[in-house]
Amino acid sequence: MTRKSWTHEGVCWVAGRKRTLPETIEVTDPADGRVIGCVPRGGVELAREAVDTASEAFPAWSRRLPRERGQVLKDWANRILDHRAELAKLLSQEQGKPVAEALGEVETAAEFVEWYGEEAKRISGEVLPPAKENQQMTVLRQPVGVAALITPWNYPAAMVTRKAAPALAAGCTVVLKPAKETPLIASALFELLMETNLPHGAANLVTGDAASIGDTWLGDYRVRKISFTGSTGVGKELMKKAAEHVKRVSLELGGNAPALVFEDADLDRAADAIVANKFENGGQMCNGINLIFVQEPVREELTERILARVKALRVGRGTETECHVGPLINQRACHKVQALVDDAVNKGARLRYGGEPLLEGEYSNGHFYRPTVLTEVDDRMDLTRDEVFGPVAPILTFRIEEEAVRRANGTPYGLAAYLFTRDGGRIHRLTEGLEAGMVGVNGTSLSFPQAPFGGIKESGLGREGGLYGLEEFLELKFISTMLD
Ligand code: ADP
Repeated sequence: MTRKSWTHEGVCWVAGRKRTLPETIEVTDPADGRVIGCVPRGGVELAREAVDTASEAFPAWSRRLPRERGQVLKDWANRILDHRAELAKLLSQEQGKPVAEALGEVETAAEFVEWYGEEAKRISGEVLPPAKENQQMTVLRQPVGVAALITPWNYPAAMVTRKAAPALAAGCTVVLKPAKETPLIASALFELLMETNLPHGAANLVTGDAASIGDTWLGDYRVRKISFTGSTGVGKELMKKAAEHVKRVSLELGGNAPALVFEDADLDRAADAIVANKFENGGQMCNGINLIFVQEPVREELTERILARVKALRVGRGTETECHVGPLINQRACHKVQALVDDAVNKGARLRYGGEPLLEGEYSNGHFYRPTVLTEVDDRMDLTRDEVFGPVAPILTFRIEEEAVRRANGTPYGLAAYLFTRDGGRIHRLTEGLEAGMVGVNGTSLSFPQAPFGGIKESGLGREGGLYGLEEFLELKFISTMLD
């Protein structure tokens, strides 16, 4: 195996070929704002060419033996794992997260590909009981066609594979647009995919102008499916545009995840899990805890435990060893976090730790925010409604279970909710009663290849992961045959 050392000049991949363009978009290192590379500024033309080639490749790819589609995916997964260290470094440089986290993400990205590589050969239909004499009823599962995939910057490797792998396993061909902040890792992952036996044109990557690429794909009747992860606002716009040709839509949007900690919980375990979740990726995670609701009698005990753990977090460049929290993606993100913290403090929240950007020496570009803990947070404060998307842990209190559930559900979002208690009856009541697509009980990990990831209410439509993620790329066809 030859080791790759990816340059920071990313490329598009259309019809199995590398594509560059005279016009480029700069990619910056969020740690210092320095330009570290560039990618082609694709637009309408390249986006359309990508759909042309994906739609030409569809008949052959969808008819390939499922086992062969699976082999292509398993080969891709192995190539990702073979280059995990290089990919993690690239990801950390353009996105900012600690290298150890980036490595975990790359491994997760490979796991999704491997899982769907295995699942490709298990897609099957059904035979139904007949309604008439001599009738045969069957149901086929067939790929929807060309799928357009639009991915965000916060998990730029895992989101590429969590969409592309089930689509390709199902027999769809794909066109993918990564976020402008993190296109290099997508370009590198596609390079590895192009080295497999995937037929030319079955997977295409276009970097560049989001609106013109998105509009081209949404306006093209040949694109039958759109799968998007990003903000609720953009998701709603895409859904409206998808209506024109009645495209199938999967949306994984924003959240406002509550964590409910009851007085009978194991508080050390709760604090470990909450801090691990809350500060992963600098708090830039859609299923990250936005609000910590703690039952009044254990408020201080939990707060002390959270504070002790947060004070041990080291902020730094993602590529430094011993870094737990990297820079936020850009200065705008830092300003938003500061505005939400200021609003809370002005309305009476108590700042227990942090509460400001780091402005020392090499960290002075304003992208680094100190891990922050706020107590005495109440429902009048903006951060109870807005996704903070930063390293801030707001602590609220509640008295009784019904109140906690009512306040946790009092949001238009419904992606994830977390629950810490030892009471079996309560676990049963709350896992049913919390309005969320996913509930973590006494733990906060929720993204697994076999499990359905996704939200309800304004957090989205459809699921990624497991058989559920595969169904998003399959259509049912019912066939009724009258036999002689
Ligand atoms: P965030 O706020 O996390 O950056 P966005 O929703 O803006 O989330 O971005 C998520 C993805 O959606 C990115 O790939 C971005 O380029 C893309 N995107 C943003 N605006 C549009 C649009 N109008 N059409 C298509 N894609 C878009």
